Amino acid sequence: MNGSGLAPETRTHLIRSCERIVGPEGVISAPDELRVYECDALTFYHRVMPDLVVLPTSTQQVADVVRLCREAGVPFLPRGAGTGLSGGATPDAGGVMIVLTRMNRILDIDVPSRLATVEAGFINLWLTNAVKRHGLFYAPDPASQQACSIGGNVAENAGGPHCLKYGVTTNHVLGATVVLPDGEVRQLGGKIQDRPGYDLLGVFVGSEGTLGICTEVTVRLLPQPEAVKTLLAVFRTIEEASNAVSGIIARGIIPVAMEMLDREIIKAVEANVKAGYPLDAGAVLLIELDGPRAEIEAEAVGVEATCREHGCIELRVARTDEERALLWKGRKEAAGSVGRITHHYYLQDAVVPRSKLPKILREIGEIGGRYGLIIANVFHAGDGNIHPLICFDLTTPGDLDRAIAAGSEIMKRCIEAGGSVSGEHGIGHEKRDYLPLMYSPADLAAMLRVRAVFDPAGLCNPGKIFPADRPEGHGDRNLQSPAMTAVSDR
Ligand SMILES: Cc1cc2nc3c(=O)[nH]c(=O)nc-3n(C[C@H](O)[C@H](O)[C@H](O)COP(=O)(O)OP(=O)(O)OC[C@H]3O[C@@H](n4cnc5c(N)ncnc54)[C@H](O)[C@@H]3O)c2cc1C
Repeated sequence: MNGSGLAPETRTHLIRSCERIVGPEGVISAPDELRVYECDALTFYHRVMPDLVVLPTSTQQVADVVRLCREAGVPFLPRGAGTGLSGGATPDAGGVMIVLTRMNRILDIDVPSRLATVEAGFINLWLTNAVKRHGLFYAPDPASQQACSIGGNVAENAGGPHCLKYGVTTNHVLGATVVLPDGEVRQLGGKIQDRPGYDLLGVFVGSEGTLGICTEVTVRLLPQPEAVKTLLAVFRTIEEASNAVSGIIARGIIPVAMEMLDREIIKAVEANVKAGYPLDAGAVLLIELDGPRAEIEAEAVGVEATCREHGCIELRVARTDEERALLWKGRKEAAGSVGRITHHYYLQDAVVPRSKLPKILREIGEIGGRYGLIIANVFHAGDGNIHPLICFDLTTPGDLDRAIAAGSEIMKRCIEAGGSVSGEHGIGHEKRDYLPLMYSPADLAAMLRVRAVFDPAGLCNPGKIFPADRPEGHGDRNLQSPAMTAVSDR
């Protein structure tokens, strides 16, 4: 789909003005080059090209481009690395896309204070790599951390395997420089915690690019633990593995990570990465403990006992850094490996109370069977965060519609189980019509009022988070129809 249909003279004016701000090399306007930006990592529906892409290199340039858009009344949206999975970095209907990838410098590493300030386009994994030599690391580690940007993490309040113990992005961000939708530059938070007054930084984190564009971020760094122990627990069924997850937490042990991979994912990973996961397992749990050596040795005993109580048939401990890295490579490349078992997949993201994992996973299996689709599961089990990958083939008539309908049912079951329609990937465009299942019209109207305080003109990443036709009167809408609409709009 093309952009918003800007009048040619408006588009030409924007291109010329943006070129003056960022230089000609920082503006993309040729249709074949714009196609790169027509979707994020949610690739199979809602593809819309921006009218132009701008790649600024400073906060001032971002502010100038935003001011230009505001004056022209043209919508704009920020984009980091484009690894988002809810269509948040895909234009709703064209406009100017402001891509932060050229803002990728470290601005300050303050070792004594254990803080770092980076530009928003800085890649997540680069930060841990940069501070390793100081004995420090940056805890939030989305499975996409080799590619995603810190700015994108802030916007999505990203989680990751190691967030079970350390908390998600919001727990690690202390300050952000933000270009507001009117082009003003503001500092939210700073280098100290617990500032008085309203927590505007807390409001901004997780706002999915709808309240402004963050250009610089100050984050907390943590000291590397004295020791790390990585275990692979093998189970006959996914239900046994889920019960072990609850059992470990109930025992008072908080591993740094507890990741589940089911039989289908194991098959895909072994065909691709050869991480050494057993092909005859129903599910494996990748469990990591970190902290003082004596403490994790004691915890490992508890983890093993709990896993055995819940039917674990084999428990391996990584003996070397290489073995540990290989076990993690399997997990981190799981989504990329799914191409070994399917042509296309629809990755769902939701969260349920941890104790409901066995029930929801049983229901997901039943839903897959009913729709005739394989649903593979790889997820941050310790958080109750599920990621069913619904496998389908775009060339098989009706397959995509079945995948979307199966996804809708899974969302509905998660809410019935007391969960939420997003664990970490955000609402974006994909799930905006699910929000009324969780919030009343009054709740949604209150959230929209907050948004309007930041963006009264409604130009900053419009069409995201909130239902397409706005809250009033839509508290009881049917789950299936919005998703089906999205498909027919493709
Ligand atoms: C294989 C794979 C694994 C993943 N694993 C995880 C995981 O474990 N945990 C997790 O939480 N997510 C995961 N994700 C989703 C995704 O990587 C995260 O949401 C990530 O935070 C997005 O960062 P990005 O730079 O790619 O942002 P983009 O996709 O470019 O943008 C995402 C949203 O943030 C907004 N945005 C981007 N930059 C800025 C900025 N500077 N200021 C304001 N708004 C901005 C955009 O408008 C958009 O709404 C995974 C994705 C993939 C493909």
